[in-house]
Amino acid sequence: MTKFIFVTGGVLSSLGKGITSASIATILKQSGQKVSMLKIDPYLNVDPGTMSPLEHGEVFVTADGAETDLDLGNYERFIDTTLSAKNNFTTGQIYQTVIRREREGGYLGKTIQVIPHVVDEIKDRIYEAGKDYEFLIVELGGTVGDIEGLPFMEAIRQMRHELQKTNTMNIHVTLVPYIAAAGELKTKPTQHSVQELRRIGITPHMIVCRSEKPLPKELKKKLAMSCDIDNNAVIEAGDAQSIYQVPMNFLKEGILTPICEHFNINLKPNMEKWETLVKHIILPQDEITIAFVGKYLDLKESYKSLTEALIHAGAHLNTKVKINWCDSERIEDVGAYEIINNSDAILVAGGFGHRGVEGKLKAIEYARINKIPYLGICLGMQLAVIEFARNVLGLEDANSIEFDPETKNPLIYLIDEFLDQSGNKQVRTHSSPMGGTMRLGEYPFNPKKGTKLQKAYGNDETYYERHRHRYEANPAYKEALEKAGMIISGESDGLIEAVEIADHPWFVGVQFHPEFTSHLETPNPIILEFVKQTIK
Ligand code: GLN
Repeated sequence: MTKFIFVTGGVLSSLGKGITSASIATILKQSGQKVSMLKIDPYLNVDPGTMSPLEHGEVFVTADGAETDLDLGNYERFIDTTLSAKNNFTTGQIYQTVIRREREGGYLGKTIQVIPHVVDEIKDRIYEAGKDYEFLIVELGGTVGDIEGLPFMEAIRQMRHELQKTNTMNIHVTLVPYIAAAGELKTKPTQHSVQELRRIGITPHMIVCRSEKPLPKELKKKLAMSCDIDNNAVIEAGDAQSIYQVPMNFLKEGILTPICEHFNINLKPNMEKWETLVKHIILPQDEITIAFVGKYLDLKESYKSLTEALIHAGAHLNTKVKINWCDSERIEDVGAYEIINNSDAILVAGGFGHRGVEGKLKAIEYARINKIPYLGICLGMQLAVIEFARNVLGLEDANSIEFDPETKNPLIYLIDEFLDQSGNKQVRTHSSPMGGTMRLGEYPFNPKKGTKLQKAYGNDETYYERHRHRYEANPAYKEALEKAGMIISGESDGLIEAVEIADHPWFVGVQFHPEFTSHLETPNPIILEFVKQTIK
């Protein structure tokens, strides 16, 4: 029997519901429980794939190629697991399924309604995600009181009804604001938020209170009384130095007692390894600075997985990885030296569209010529190939057809037919719709013997990394590139997956996104090696 923990949010958004959910999952997992997680997004997009990173932060790609909410990245990083398309769904997907079924005659004769049809579809998906697990943590996006959240709340209410009492638990994450003028912490917003939940029929069994000040015992008691929650189930969540500290903070707050009591189980988490890694994050021995060249610098959330992956690598090497954020458009204006100057290494991340590309090319040239450690990810690899073709091979108009469809030297081009993960033929053209025409998800590659890529991954085996891109490096130039000193270090079914420069201490480009498989406990090999080389 799967046990379900539903995490809802109150008062306002951005309280860290995702980290709260992942932290509770971590505690359960480190106690030996079989845990999975589900994020429900009440918006109408089918998935966040077509949303601007500025709108919604990063799009996290799962191994099976689903474009999902960035919270899934946190889940994987915390519970050290691989999730799939099943672990995130939106209102858009629910309605798409229900309406398709209606058109196919699946409800023949019936009037289709939110209750029961939409709510049933929601419940089916929650049960499906929990299958074969001891615990499923379900995080509901948005805040209680949102109109679009109602069908999901109703599903949570009904599941409590369908399952035994000890099999569902409701946790509500709220804010206890500090009003400086009064010098007081205020419980009223939490009380109202819990009232709103109960109006819908959901009784929280625990509240997690975000607060910038410690909550005095008396205040916790007051909250427990007014929200009708056990005294030991009011958990304080202050600001942490690192998100990975949150599970430990929760344990100190005594979160295990109400959970164990509620489910009538015994849990003994082993956090030893976790604690050591967190110590390395908070009190590291060494420090390096990496120049992170990108264009969505106003919203760092759009590079979430990558910045987290650098933290994981740093934790394993007892080193703080500081980031020097370099706006690629500023590099276009003032040159690479001015901006990158003191950094120990250069990283060019993935991206779409022409804006900022010339600045990234300058940064890459700077890394290549000055023999600074370089890691190029996705667009960062494509541009490394273009830079090499332009400045070493002398192909001045070398480009990606993403930026110049007419170029005579399409170093980066579009393969319009390829086999996807399931072996189905995919067709894409320059004008294909933007949603769902990319090479997405996990593909295998074999690192070439003796390369830096192979050294990073270890053995002479097949490895899997995740993709999210439309264009590919053009194999027609393979010979010319290799002759001039660029090594094709990884290939996947004829597609170029990785390149490096022979005459350089460490210059690597990868077509895949290694950051998607980096977890706190198991850092990604190529990112770990990049940081290691930078320390050196
Ligand atoms: N814009 C490039 C492509 O579509 C790179 C994408 C990326 O960096 N994720 O191929």
